[in-house]
Amino acid sequence: MQEKVLAYLDEHKEEMFGLLSDLLKIDTQNYISYGNEEAGQQFFAEFCQKNGFQTDLYYPDSIPGFTEHEGYLAGRGTDRRPNVTAILPGKTGKQKITLAAHMDTMPVGSETDWSVPALGGVMKDNRIYGRGSSDDKFGIAASIFAAMAIRDSGVILDDDVYITSYCDEEMGGGNGALATCLKYPSDVYINLDGGGMQVLPYGIGGLSGAASLHKEETLSSCSSVFEGLTILVDEFEKFGKKRFKELGKSPIFAGTSIHDDAYRLLGVTCGSGGLDLNSAKISFTYYTLQEQSVIEAEVEELAQRISKKLAKKGLVFDGIQKVSRFFHPIYPDSVSQDAMLFKEKLETSYGKSVAIAGGCLSDLSVLHKYGNGVAFNTGLYKGFDEYGGPHQIDEYVDCDEFLAIAKALALYLLEKTYSKGE
Ligand SMILES: [Zn+2]
Repeated sequence: MQEKVLAYLDEHKEEMFGLLSDLLKIDTQNYISYGNEEAGQQFFAEFCQKNGFQTDLYYPDSIPGFTEHEGYLAGRGTDRRPNVTAILPGKTGKQKITLAAHMDTMPVGSETDWSVPALGGVMKDNRIYGRGSSDDKFGIAASIFAAMAIRDSGVILDDDVYITSYCDEEMGGGNGALATCLKYPSDVYINLDGGGMQVLPYGIGGLSGAASLHKEETLSSCSSVFEGLTILVDEFEKFGKKRFKELGKSPIFAGTSIHDDAYRLLGVTCGSGGLDLNSAKISFTYYTLQEQSVIEAEVEELAQRISKKLAKKGLVFDGIQKVSRFFHPIYPDSVSQDAMLFKEKLETSYGKSVAIAGGCLSDLSVLHKYGNGVAFNTGLYKGFDEYGGPHQIDEYVDCDEFLAIAKALALYLLEKTYSKGE
């Protein structure tokens, strides 16, 4: 049966690549308080329906109790940003397995820097280019084609499989992932939002934030505010060094790019060509493996120290604001059987060894905390600092890796939940 399912994927790979290309032509950029997912989700829902799947397009905020849930993040416009879940029903449906990927993308950025149209879905040189190709629309296409390969080969699995395309992942969203946990709770979540052809049962915690200060009186120069800004930058650098040290103690994250990026200063502003002279601001991201309450206590101490130092200079500290949600770290005591099984299947389809590793901030945090099941990430994206990587110009997927992941999903499902001969 394995051969038949794999042959199906080989025979239909051009259609799978075509689906990704079509998804890339639809603008689904995430602008934090709103996003353009709707057209993409409608297209995907129609695709699933046309191909015979029972399909549900639903808005997170319309799920009963959703906006009161502790994981809900207000101000994201998820009353108008739908999720789509297609269902592959099993014989018993005893267990539920979710294959998930997000429909929203980072903004395109400066289009003139791209060598191909950012929303063109261009296929060339065994690659498919476009914003959201590796992050994360390939996962939507790979999941639905894995399900079709199984069904059209005449296999009926034991368990139910949910193929979910969720909204609002970029920029620290998470409401789409939360919605799938609440509406389609599952025993296993494979979140196809990871990099390097790895299996990622570990996830770093942390958040993106900002901190600002101001001077009460009207100023003709921003030099006194700038002096305060240097205090702010220095204190956060010290906080960042602690994060670097902290991650250095983890065998999973030490020496990785996540360790290197344990603290990143992302922006510094003070005055603007003679305007806004009495305020200053920094923005940053930090990673941690500490529980939220522990790290937040440290951040609170940091805020008090900064506040005192600034007060001595006659400056007012406006505090530290969260820009994203807090991502809960995921650090299981042992790697789940499902993650190990998927690793084995990915090695088979990819023909190379596959590492078990830790991923950067993602909605694995939400799926793990609120999904009540086993959860891990996997995926094919390149480094965030590499040409063609996620969030970069010329973002692309390699077609062989794309196909290998679709095959691994199908092989995993066959071994996990197909009782032959019944
Ligand atoms: Zn992503």
